[in-house]
Amino acid sequence: MYAGEIVEYGPSVQMGTAPAHPYTAGLLHSFPELLGERQSLHGVPGSPPDLRQPIRGCAFTPRCGFAFEPCSSVHPALGPPAPGLGAAESARRRDSPAGWRVACHLHNPELRPEGLPAALTGGLAGPGPAGREPDPPAKENP
Ligand code: SF4
Repeated sequence: MYAGEIVEYGPSVQMGTAPAHPYTAGLLHSFPELLGERQSLHGVPGSPPDLRQPIRGCAFTPRCGFAFEPCSSVHPALGPPAPGLGAAESARRRDSPAGWRVACHLHNPELRPEGLPAALTGGLAGPGPAGREPDPPAKENP
């Protein structure tokens, strides 16, 4: 949730490895991994909005490193993530991201036909809009 609204919900394993919303990605980069290599943490810059004031557009705009033209004026509605996001992980787990929803203009192919920024694909995105990197080769389970 951000500014009192749900901005992303869905399968925790997919959101945890390939978050679809920039705020979710920021939260995941705000605390260290319990296992694995040390990584630099980025956090979420800035402060939450004053909810006593009206909010125009996406409430996360002043803090979002991916903000673009419609963000400061058009409120993003919850909808499915960009095509392909989480597809590789879903195939591996044999489940579906069907219940995954995100409120971000980056996932609207009409507003962002070039697809998601690479930083939001988590390396797990499958075939998606033009401009997205392909999936890495799948690893076989022993
Ligand atoms: S709608 Fe725009 S400002 Fe809001 S999270 Fe998405 S890219 Fe960032």
